[in-house]
Amino acid sequence: YIKIKNLHKTYPTHDGPLEVLRGVDLSIRKGEIFGTIGFSGAGKSTLARCINRLETPDKGEILIDGVDILKLPKQELLKERRKIGMIFQTFNLFEAKTVYKNISYPLEISGFPKAEIKRRVLDTAELVGLSDKLSAYPGGLSGGQKQRVGIARALVNDPYLLLSDEATSALDPQTTLQILELLKEINKATGITILMITHELDAIKYTCERMAVLEDGLIIESGSVNEIFHNPHSRTGELFAKVF
Ligand code: ATP
Ligand code: MG
Repeated sequence: YIKIKNLHKTYPTHDGPLEVLRGVDLSIRKGEIFGTIGFSGAGKSTLARCINRLETPDKGEILIDGVDILKLPKQELLKERRKIGMIFQTFNLFEAKTVYKNISYPLEISGFPKAEIKRRVLDTAELVGLSDKLSAYPGGLSGGQKQRVGIARALVNDPYLLLSDEATSALDPQTTLQILELLKEINKATGITILMITHELDAIKYTCERMAVLEDGLIIESGSVNEIFHNPHSRTGELFAKVF
């Protein structure tokens, strides 16, 4: 369904080019919650940003149902990008906008009719449990509620893929569980495919059936979460040991 092949990304830096993705291969099935774990600096956020094209990869393919989205003409690329939602560790909300306006933003910039916007915002707010907070501002919300706004904003365009980049890393353990539970519910209810990128082993164990391990710009292992946890490659075992 989603196949990433030989993805490369190099950033120019003062000390010369920094190769952050060095040939990433990933295969994600339709409707699954796929985990990707790796230490700080492994290239996780770069990978997420390359998938939704906030960043342009240097080389490789991102095939969605067989179509390489890196080769799409600009107009179609913009359309495609709206079909990929993203949530962040720091929520990235508009502090000066209400919850309603935060959620409606992607629809407003796409020029949807007002009635359609309202219908979608109310539906999405209900899905994430925010119906009673629509006129609040982000400053008056808890961390978990802020992430719910982030999730609603990511989903309001009805995407086929949700990219989650450390979405629970700023939350306490109990709130983390609630957000992971919500992502599972949304996955079940809508069938959306989720790529969950994190350095938290527990989040992946709790949410995913399949996962990959990203280290230093390369996928060093991928497969079922159970198998990888019970029988990790030696290098993955070292990574796990360092985390615990
Ligand atoms: P973390 O767990 O800390 O979020 P990460 O796995 O998400 O880490 P990235 O943010 O993808 O890692 O960064 C990978 C490497 O690329 C790091 O060394 C980082 O400093 C570098 N990097 C990221 N973005 C840029 C950029 N825009 N320009 C130059 N270097 C960058
Ligand atoms: Mg990151």
